[in-house]
This record gives sequence, C-alpha cells and structure tokens, in this order.
Amino acid sequence: MSIVKGGCLCGTIRYEVNGPLGRADNCHCSMCRKQHGAAFATYADINPDDFTWVNGVDCINVYETASGAGWCFCGKCGSTLAGTTSGQVTSITLGAVDGDPCVKPESHIFIASKANWFEITDDVPKFKERQKWLVS
Ligand SMILES: [Zn+2]
Ligand SMILES: [Zn+2]
Repeated sequence: MSIVKGGCLCGTIRYEVNGPLGRADNCHCSMCRKQHGAAFATYADINPDDFTWVNGVDCINVYETASGAGWCFCGKCGSTLAGTTSGQVTSITLGAVDGDPCVKPESHIFIASKANWFEITDDVPKFKERQKWLVS
C-alpha cells in the first residue's frame, strides 16, 4: 500500500496518508487564494479514514468557513496542510507533500474567480466551478 507523507515548513506537524491519493485539482476560488496567499491552491482528495496526524497535533489550527469548507494549518509557520469538509480531513495540499506525490492536477477549478494577474498557460481542463461547466 502506498504511504504519502508530508508536513509543514517548520517541521512541527507531520502526517501520513495510508492509501492512494484521489483526484488532484488546482483551485482558483477566492477563498483558496486568500488562504494560501497565492494564485491558486493544489489539493489531492483522500479517503478520510486513510489520514493520520503523526506529529504536532497541538500546533494544528483549523479555519472553517460557514459553507463547511476548511483548512488545517500550522500555528507556528502557517503552512496549509489539509482541506476539511465538515471537520473531516478530505484533501491534502500537494505543496506540503514530501517528494513526488505521483499525482498531477487533472483540472483547474473555480476559474470563474481566477485572479486577473494569473494566466493559465497549460492544457489542463478548466472548469468554471467544481468539475462542471467546462471552459474551452
Ligand atoms: Zn509549522
Ligand atoms: Zn478553492
């Protein structure tokens, strides 16, 4: 079985995913842009049952929006490590994975709210929202 490991910049928080990574996407929604301070955020879906925090649980901060979407980040260095849905870890940020996660983003999602200053130049399919309303 594949084990994916990752952690934050300061090394306090470590996690493991004891199972395959699911679909990966680049999310351009305004919440992810703000939360990451970047043009977009890249996540891979996971099975919540496969996910374990290994170190630094005391340092984990969770910010959840009214919609139920949330992020887990390090209280010391600010790295965003995982996405949550209704309090459960349902995705990991690919940027915090150790080494090669062996998945690549299959789509750009929520490009209806993409930053004007960022241009998508690859051939990865673009969706206005979440994997629907394909934009050519
Ligand atoms: Zn940290
Ligand atoms: Zn998003």
